Amino acid sequence: MQTALADFVKSSPAGREADAILRSCVHCGFCLPACPTYQLLGDELDSPRGRIYLMKQLLEGEPVSARTQLHLDRCLTCRACESACPSGVRYGRLLDIGRALIEERVPRSPPAAGQRYLLRKIVPYTQRVRALLGLARAARPLLPRSLRARLPARAASSAVLGQPQSPRAWPAPRHARRVVLLEGCVQAALAPEINQAAAQVLDRIGLSTIRITGGGCCGALAHHLSAHEESLAQARRNIDALWPQVAAGAEAVVFAASACAVMVCDYGRLLSDDPAYAERAARISALARDIGQLLAVHAGALSAALAAGREPEPLRVAFHAPCTLQHALRAAGVVEPLLAAAGCTLTAVADGGR
Ligand code: SF4
Ligand code: SF4
Repeated sequence: MQTALADFVKSSPAGREADAILRSCVHCGFCLPACPTYQLLGDELDSPRGRIYLMKQLLEGEPVSARTQLHLDRCLTCRACESACPSGVRYGRLLDIGRALIEERVPRSPPAAGQRYLLRKIVPYTQRVRALLGLARAARPLLPRSLRARLPARAASSAVLGQPQSPRAWPAPRHARRVVLLEGCVQAALAPEINQAAAQVLDRIGLSTIRITGGGCCGALAHHLSAHEESLAQARRNIDALWPQVAAGAEAVVFAASACAVMVCDYGRLLSDDPAYAERAARISALARDIGQLLAVHAGALSAALAAGREPEPLRVAFHAPCTLQHALRAAGVVEPLLAAAGCTLTAVADGGR
């Protein structure tokens, strides 16, 4: 694709990166069938190719409007288009740049800006989410039926490798081999048993999972709302919290939410210009793994732990891999064999690639 970027952006690092990405797109349209918003809405401007065209207009200084912003907002950032693209167009990175630029040029209405501000100030903070959930649960009978149905139940007890566990049991470190787990933000409030179950599974295969204090949201939420400085501050805080364990020999930085793994895999690139953090950020990015990726590497140890445990209940399981696992981490298919090895019967999932 030919480009002629506008003066306001062409000399900046982001502008040069966007220019290279735009030029790599050959307009073939192979990405369109993979795009869920295009499939639903049928509008080329809600497709990857259409959005690339809109971002080209933005970067070339042509007029943009709230309509342009709406088409970019509608993108799910699922990156299915990247998996489908034969030219290796880094659409997700271009979208980051495009969204940040349009945020500067098209003001949002006060309610929309307020909603985005509240999302950034509440969701990434476990204690705030927990407090609001507590209030909502106390007021459950007074809530409208639709909200009541969405209110998550309290954390359920977990069963790991066929053996019931206390929902609060985080195994004490007992192995020489260690990984460090970043517990994240909203998941730690909504479903803390997931991180605990991850630690229990890893303990059974010979890896102790170290909890850290001082970490928090990976920064993805602020990043995707184009609050990039806020997101980088969260990344630096996490690096400070993780580093002592990494420096002491932790083998991996593990996540029970694949979206967090995607974000932390990007710390090295995002902080490459920060002399105080670049080296540590790159090291932590290189160690970042989704729990599925980590278990796939230790499939033999997992099978041995399963064989030594109680016979598992036969379960029929539908597993739909998160887009972050499939498309951003390029780790489609790592989880299904683990479930099969654990005795689960996998059922077909329609549109599993989306
Ligand atoms: S993003 Fe890739 S698949 Fe889509 S139009 Fe451009 S080159 Fe083709
Ligand atoms: S990231 Fe997903 S929703 Fe956005 S353009 Fe690509 S395929 Fe469509």
